[in-house]
Amino acid sequence: MKIDDKYDPGFFRADAARYERMEYRRCGKSGLRLPALSVGLWHNFGHTDDLEKARNILRTSFDHGITHFDLANNYGPPFGAAEENFGRLFRKDWAPYRDELILSTKAGWDMWPGPYGNFGSRKYLIASLDQSLRRMGVDYVDIFYHHRPDPQTPLEETMGALDHIVRQGKALYAGISQYKPEETARAAAILRQMGTPLLIHQPRYSMLDRWVEDGLLDTLEQEGVGAIAFSPLEQGLLTDRYLQGFPEDSRAVRDGRYLRKDRISGERLELVRRLNAIAQKRGQTLAQMAIAWLLKDQRITSVLVGASSPKQMLDNIGALEQLAFEREELDQIEAILK
Ligand code: NDP
Repeated sequence: MKIDDKYDPGFFRADAARYERMEYRRCGKSGLRLPALSVGLWHNFGHTDDLEKARNILRTSFDHGITHFDLANNYGPPFGAAEENFGRLFRKDWAPYRDELILSTKAGWDMWPGPYGNFGSRKYLIASLDQSLRRMGVDYVDIFYHHRPDPQTPLEETMGALDHIVRQGKALYAGISQYKPEETARAAAILRQMGTPLLIHQPRYSMLDRWVEDGLLDTLEQEGVGAIAFSPLEQGLLTDRYLQGFPEDSRAVRDGRYLRKDRISGERLELVRRLNAIAQKRGQTLAQMAIAWLLKDQRITSVLVGASSPKQMLDNIGALEQLAFEREELDQIEAILK
């Protein structure tokens, strides 16, 4: 990444019409509303990426009413870089808009060496959030997540750390990610008893990964907890990105650790092609249809997309223009996914 601290990107004045275009959904039974579309900084905000492009992805998002930016301690590369780069952008672009933003970060995966930089201990979570706040240059985040369940640490300890962090004012709300339905119900009960309601769950959910339909969404509804779906485009597979081969600047080529080229194979690609044909008939791109398909369920508070360019973000935002499905379209999609 090229960093030039003397370069002046100009003062960012957000579009005055930004709140007219976005739908905001209540997060579970809380007082907080989130935009139907949120943006994640897992990829494209590391030290190997272009900071100006990153800046413009966030500016474009906010200009269209996307008020929620999602980070984690280990987003990069290297770990911490996305928060650090967000901090650089925050100083110039976002400080005046802090109260219009919902910023989240997380801890739970591998972050630093030794026994205190991973999983779910009170020691790890509290130290990690302090590091995140320093990197991002903010006093608090809006949502702090435990990033994944930890089978070794008592859930009371992990939830106690979230409760403590909220009471300290370092996060306004508590969230969990990747928890199964029973663990989620237990976590919600422990937090409720402590007086800090569980705000939100961040599960993976897309047309190609539907595990949440098997109990999690019901649990969240019962508990009054919101849901924000991550990797809704299956990291780019559920778009037209790979229909003509492997673009040099695509995730599968640039960083094959998470989206492996060998997984984008004949049969899967054929399925994507068939979905793409339905999207075209609806007058949408496949990315737009994949987002709309998730938002048809009102239990989904927000769909959390990634983008490697402002153009992709604009395409994704276009999904909101057509969220409704005909019964026949849903049946056709179902037949393809089965
Ligand atoms: P997506 O499924 O939205 O994939 C994003 C990728 O899809 C982009 O980088 C881009 O790939 C491609 N893409 C996006 N929009 C378009 C478009 N309109 N047309 C064509 N291609 C497009 O999500 P991510 O996997 O990036 O995850 C989103 C966020 O979810 C993360 O940033 C993070 O905040 C969160 N997350 C949370 C996890 C957790 O454990 N809680 C785990 C993973 C993610 P390309 O680079 O090829 O252009």
